Amino acid sequence: MIDMHIHAVNPQLPGVRHIPDFLSGPLEPLVAILRQQMQESGTEAMLGMGHLGGTADDPLGIASTLRIAELLPVLHPIGVADPTRIDTEHLQRVERQLQSGKVKALKGYLGYLYYGPDSPAYVPYYELAARYKLPFIFHTGDNYSDLAKVKYAHPLLVDEVAVDHRGVNFVMAHFGNPWITDAAEVLYKNENVWADLSGLLVGDDAYFANMTERGVVRRVVERVKQGIEFTERPDKFLYGTDWPLAPMRTYRDFVRELIPENYHQAVFHDNAKALFKM
Ligand SMILES: [Zn+2]
Repeated sequence: MIDMHIHAVNPQLPGVRHIPDFLSGPLEPLVAILRQQMQESGTEAMLGMGHLGGTADDPLGIASTLRIAELLPVLHPIGVADPTRIDTEHLQRVERQLQSGKVKALKGYLGYLYYGPDSPAYVPYYELAARYKLPFIFHTGDNYSDLAKVKYAHPLLVDEVAVDHRGVNFVMAHFGNPWITDAAEVLYKNENVWADLSGLLVGDDAYFANMTERGVVRRVVERVKQGIEFTERPDKFLYGTDWPLAPMRTYRDFVRELIPENYHQAVFHDNAKALFKM
């Protein structure tokens, strides 16, 4: 099983609170927690999001993830495409970091930054993604920050760039939740658009138990399943947990409910393996 959406480091996004302390503490305890989560859930590999504001020699914000990966080699970094930094020097440094071959994808933080997918500031990053054959992941849907402006994170905007940059595979993180119908249409229409199922419910085991008891989980499952059915493409969904926002095992059980059983192998493993060349 491949979990293609976790946070092993603080993403350093404006206005995001409640980041657990262990993401900023010493590496060994963090790695121990991650190992336990992986073991409980049967996860064999993970993609970890980088952070904004990387230094000059770490323009994609992946160095801290790579340090964790030295202790936990099944963790691979995703670089942050920062639309506020598009000077030639920065982009050359980004390209050098991509040449290392360690970066599995680029990510754009829609809403947290006030740039839509159609902003010209993202175009140089799309070109790099095309040249290095890397998927481009967007945060889509609800933002986890009071400072974010959510209109930039609407999944419908992804259609615009999916058409204009057909050589890039785009991934809508969180399936555009709560705009699932819109996200489903964009995925259905564009062969080069995928979606991850992370972060659709956020909380600890007690929260999931409480929401299950109240019937909330069942209703979320129904709502998301309708979106997946509309796309007619369960083979274009990817498993991710958004850990540490949810426990891996509990979230795995939730995603199992969303996907027809004959597509579990694809969604929990094969799609990510192919898309991210793992
Ligand atoms: Zn996330």
